[in-house]
Amino acid sequence: MQNLMPKIISLAKRRGFIFPSSEIYGGFGSCYDFGPLGVEMKNNIKKVWWDEMVKKHENMVGLDAAILMSPKVWQASGHLTAGFADELVECKSCHKRFRTDEIGRGRASASCPECGGKLTEPRKFNLMMKTFVGPVEEKASQIYLRAETCQGIYVNFENVLNSMRLKIPFGIAQIGKSFRNEITPGDFIYRTREFEQMEMQWFCHPKEAKKYFDFWQKERLKWYLNLGIKKENLRIKEVPAKEKPHYAKQALDLEYKFPFGWREIEGIHNRGDWDLSNHSKYSGKDSRYYDEETKEKYFPYIIETSGGADRSFLAFLIDAYQEIKGGRTKTTKAVKEIEILLKLDKKIAPIKIAVLPLVRNKPELVKKAKEIYQLLKPHFVCQYDELGSIGRRYRRLDEIAVPYAITIDFETLKQEDVTIRDRDSMAQERVKIKDLVKILKEKLEK
Ligand code: ATP
Repeated sequence: MQNLMPKIISLAKRRGFIFPSSEIYGGFGSCYDFGPLGVEMKNNIKKVWWDEMVKKHENMVGLDAAILMSPKVWQASGHLTAGFADELVECKSCHKRFRTDEIGRGRASASCPECGGKLTEPRKFNLMMKTFVGPVEEKASQIYLRAETCQGIYVNFENVLNSMRLKIPFGIAQIGKSFRNEITPGDFIYRTREFEQMEMQWFCHPKEAKKYFDFWQKERLKWYLNLGIKKENLRIKEVPAKEKPHYAKQALDLEYKFPFGWREIEGIHNRGDWDLSNHSKYSGKDSRYYDEETKEKYFPYIIETSGGADRSFLAFLIDAYQEIKGGRTKTTKAVKEIEILLKLDKKIAPIKIAVLPLVRNKPELVKKAKEIYQLLKPHFVCQYDELGSIGRRYRRLDEIAVPYAITIDFETLKQEDVTIRDRDSMAQERVKIKDLVKILKEKLEK
């Protein structure tokens, strides 16, 4: 679809998914706020990830570590050295900056992709965000905002192991904010300086690392497919040795076909014993695992699945977006219009149910509709809407992915029943009000 990104950005703003941060001050460099629908949708993505990783799998526990950590963590992890730095060139004419990997490796001496000007020599640019703790901005109190959530997991390896009486293999999952001083943020929420990660670290015997690396990449691919992402828009790419992150023995990128090209939405890494052995070295605390049965003491290998809540949000939004010329209903008015349908999976859709009185100038219909709204509200995220013709309201709901609309009409008053309209098929069925909650629950869980 042509010019899809402006359409997505416009829909996101217009319908309350995503707003530019600090907009009344002209916005703030690639920062975004999730609006009323956006926060529901992002919470849903995080919940289905948590359900999948922590609830479904055996030997999996959760964690919520602090964003601020001892700066020693980042020395041990390699993030303060060149390992966590992007190579940057600057245009001598327009002064725009580019990552050399984005304009093509080995083309550092090529001309500026924007204005054709000369580029500077590449230099390394560390991505850690600095801040200060305490009242004095002196060097001693300088710390960093975490650049990845997983370090909180590694430094808690033994706390979790001992408190939960776990045995290898097992996993620790965590969702939380990370920060990177990206050189070239952009593509809407694809690359931002503040973002949310959904990470899982699987600790296993080195001999089993390959097996679990294969296992987890299949699981993660399935997760996106089961949530409705089209198969042809997903692929797994082996990261070439030159481009592998500093900690990884083997790395795969799970990529989505964005309108701006194939890009990573999740990384799957075999981190070997890089993290635990380095933390042991730097902290002086031996975090090798002791196997009671085999009497073996070793550093477990770590298989990591590292996804972004924001990047998958964008992928889900783009994948679900459809435009139907002339609309799906062939009324004379609708024929001229383009109808937008957001076919998000029911689990991810921000609002599950809409309650609509057929017309708003009949007090008895409005009263009944409000009663039904109150009946459903404790069970589902609901919206009440009485503004405009019923057809227009259905279209507004399709645009924000509401799976089911409940319409209260004159029959309702006589028969104590309502219609349920299905977003995707537009089919309508009448059901008794007394069965409504149960039926909707069944439909949403299907
Ligand atoms: P990229 O090459 O795009 O910078 P990366 O390889 O550095 O990404 P990882 O360190 O593997 O990314 O991070 C794991 C996941 O965290 C990514 O797949 C992505 O979903 C998310 N992520 C990383 N950086 C950002 C960012 N700046 N904005 C939004 N999400 C991000």
